[in-house]
Amino acid sequence: MKILIINSGSSSIKFQLMDMPSETLICSGLVERIGYQFATINYKTGKTTIQHTHNIENHKQGLRKVVDLLLDKENGVIAKTDEIEVVGHRVVHGGNSFSDTTLITSEVKAKIQQYAALAPLHNPGNLEGILVAEEIFPSAKQVAIFDTAFHQTIPEKAKKYAIPNALYEEHGIQVYGFHGTSHQYVSEKAIAYLKPKATKIITIHLGNGCSMTAVKDGKSIDHTLGFTPSNGLIMGSRSGDIDHAIIFHLVNNLNYTLDEVKTLLTNKSGMLGLTGHMDLRDIQAEAEKGDKDCILALTMNAYRIKKYIGSYAAAMNGLDAIIFTAGIGENSSVIRKMVCEDMDFFGIILDEAKNELRSEGLREINTASSKVKVLVIPTNEELEIAKQAFELLS
Ligand code: AMP
Repeated sequence: MKILIINSGSSSIKFQLMDMPSETLICSGLVERIGYQFATINYKTGKTTIQHTHNIENHKQGLRKVVDLLLDKENGVIAKTDEIEVVGHRVVHGGNSFSDTTLITSEVKAKIQQYAALAPLHNPGNLEGILVAEEIFPSAKQVAIFDTAFHQTIPEKAKKYAIPNALYEEHGIQVYGFHGTSHQYVSEKAIAYLKPKATKIITIHLGNGCSMTAVKDGKSIDHTLGFTPSNGLIMGSRSGDIDHAIIFHLVNNLNYTLDEVKTLLTNKSGMLGLTGHMDLRDIQAEAEKGDKDCILALTMNAYRIKKYIGSYAAAMNGLDAIIFTAGIGENSSVIRKMVCEDMDFFGIILDEAKNELRSEGLREINTASSKVKVLVIPTNEELEIAKQAFELLS
């Protein structure tokens, strides 16, 4: 079964074509800067890599360009569009309506639209991708995979905020959680690898967005992102946890507008706000040269992760494994080392040599005496989406 996985953002479409159940990647690519004059398309198969620049006005034009490449006589991978039986869409916010992957109907689209109020940067682009794919692949089944779904198992004691109940009951103000496909994918990999002893796991997704999940018996029971993807860890340009009274102070005493506060905390804070750089590679390079802001920012970043490890070990009354994943988690031995330093109280002892080694798949980087396993597992959200879509339809 050929499944096209689409991750449609406000100005981009990431795509992968996969054959299931063999999990064979047929091609992948990215359309960027949709709506701008010089949009780019990257397209990669086992045989070729192509980059084009076009004037792409909207998602429909973008997806059409992708289809042209898929069908291309020389570099294409399919002969006709109806070879694609399923289109799997990543949708960021499914509120409390979806705890599983679901076939897309008009009711499902209405819900995705409704939750755009809670994820204004993501859900509108996700919905646009669905509408365009329905037009271009009319015979394919359209399936939605929600980032929030994996976290629907978080119990009330962890998902409710201590604000008046009506805001939870009538307005859905609660923890929803994000990066669900990534946390699910790596926790399932870890459970399979560590069988039979992996009931208490912490997954640490460190990319541009960062989050941690406490996974007990395979289920998410707590998570650092909350009502929106802003809470918890220090991210590329998002602050993570702050005292909310800072917002009132900025508005009431420092003359910020609410929009300016939002931009400050979402786009100008985090590692960017602390160092002037967003990419961790740049920050590590500056830290190595002795830049004090960069050294402190790395230390703060790791310290925040450590605090949540302690908190989730307490929540689960124990810990079998911690998993590092995503761009930073998979590649930054520096952050992994800083997080695992002085954690022997929790039974975490890093093997520093193994931490420095590079390899493609799952890696165990703890010492033999470490009670807690420390794993690096490359995430693969697209594969998780394909697996879930395949399971739903077979
Ligand atoms: P993601 O959102 O998972 O694609 O992660 C993107 C982030 O991963 C980038 O912004 C970098 O900060 C970080 N990253 C990627 N490669 C490396 C590397 N080799 N060392 C440190 N950080 C990296």
